Amino acid sequence: MSEVDGLKQMVLVASRILYAPNGITEVQEGFSGHVSLRLPDGGSYVVAGHTHLEGRSTLDVGYEDLVVVDMETGERLEGSQPLLGENVIHTGVYRARRDVNCVIHVHPYWCTVWSLVEELSLGLPVFFTGRSQVESEEDGDALGAALGEESAILLPGHGIVTAGETVMHACRLTAFLEEQAKKLYHASLLGRVPPEYAELLMTPHKASIESDSWRWYEERLREKGLYPELP
Ligand SMILES: [Zn+2]
Repeated sequence: MSEVDGLKQMVLVASRILYAPNGITEVQEGFSGHVSLRLPDGGSYVVAGHTHLEGRSTLDVGYEDLVVVDMETGERLEGSQPLLGENVIHTGVYRARRDVNCVIHVHPYWCTVWSLVEELSLGLPVFFTGRSQVESEEDGDALGAALGEESAILLPGHGIVTAGETVMHACRLTAFLEEQAKKLYHASLLGRVPPEYAELLMTPHKASIESDSWRWYEERLREKGLYPELP
């Protein structure tokens, strides 16, 4: 397998981990999340094309649906599927952060619920355009700037963007934040949650995003017959 094919496979693996039916992770809401990976040339990334136009979910994406996007121009370099409008999110983060090799944008239920709460937005930075979508190149670049040195940012009422040095890190972080957001919701029903408790809950410790979790996820995918094999 070539290095680029290996990276494409990782995009598909992460997409299926996040959206596997009956839950490998808590990230289940919305069917149009996207995982992208920076390619070895440093100036392009691979991501799924706009398969939702055909009524297909993230789970249905295969190798033939992946496209390669130029970070500078935002244009398609390879692939036949139309580009996603939300590619501006991925492009904006990669332009802002040379240390980031994987960007994930998903619409998980619990993180989105908390993104609407002013006083306790999970302790994460928030990016709000005044519209429901991040839709222009300028929006994407502004989101990259708002992310700063953080690894995740909330889009109020919309979803979350996570960024990592590796796909394992970004994928595990995404799942972790959703797991914790769900706990925080239930705790908040029982009583007041001190902000310092919430902050601690939402801060991933090393063990919670380590690669062992990734191997566990891959095994669950294989059990479900969802592991993407090379064509
Ligand atoms: Zn979105």
